[in-house]
Amino acid sequence: MSYTKRIDGRKFDETREIKTKVGVVPRADGSALFSFGDSVAIAAVYGPKPLHPQHLQNPEKGILRVNYDMLSFSVAERKKPGPSRRSSEISKVIEWALSPVLQLETFPNTVVDVFVHIIQADASTRCAAINAVAMALAHAGIPMTELVTAVSVGKIDKTLVVDVIKEEEDYREGEGSTDIPIAFTARSNKVSLLQLDGKIRPNELKEAIKLGERVCKKIYHEQKKALKSLGRKI
Ligand code: ADP
Repeated sequence: MSYTKRIDGRKFDETREIKTKVGVVPRADGSALFSFGDSVAIAAVYGPKPLHPQHLQNPEKGILRVNYDMLSFSVAERKKPGPSRRSSEISKVIEWALSPVLQLETFPNTVVDVFVHIIQADASTRCAAINAVAMALAHAGIPMTELVTAVSVGKIDKTLVVDVIKEEEDYREGEGSTDIPIAFTARSNKVSLLQLDGKIRPNELKEAIKLGERVCKKIYHEQKKALKSLGRKI
């Protein structure tokens, strides 16, 4: 039987409930919360500040340094705390997804530190994290050309869906589950991240990217609304 109805009853192109809030960590230079249902990310930005040790400084541009962490109690089975291969990978891909829009050349020799914590996880946390980090960077007033918006597209058996939950990620019937986190630059619509875990045909991948782009437009609207409420223009 093919995947004709989603486990949680959503439409194929419907995300979980999105919540956004800017300024959630008062002592940070910028901060934001972004959630897709039970996947909740909080991002805090500190900097730009001089990078130490000094030999790591780049006189031509600043450095974005992201630290992604999924808290131990964010999942049902307590997760081992501390860094892992997974958290290093996700930290890196968040840096790559955001770097194209940051005007890093405007703050040479410095670092912008971003801490993004997943306080509750039900899949698609890297996408929630990217959305939170983009908002927190804008809130911190870091020079950037546009926002970045991310969503996970899934191929569950033969059906394309957005904002995959854990149960969909674990789907094993038919063609199984393929998870494709995608990030777009919000105005120029360029792909700034695309990962693919599973199998997909080339024509389906094109369709998945189109679907992701369409849904990201709606998510961008939510990000913008939260920033505008604080008088930030982006
Ligand atoms: P993403 O959260 O971006 O989808 P993954 O595909 O690596 O990234 O993880 C999918 C989901 O699996 C997570 O959102 C979380 O719900 C769950 N998960 C990941 N790592 C662990 C872990 N160590 N323990 C329990 N659940 C985990």
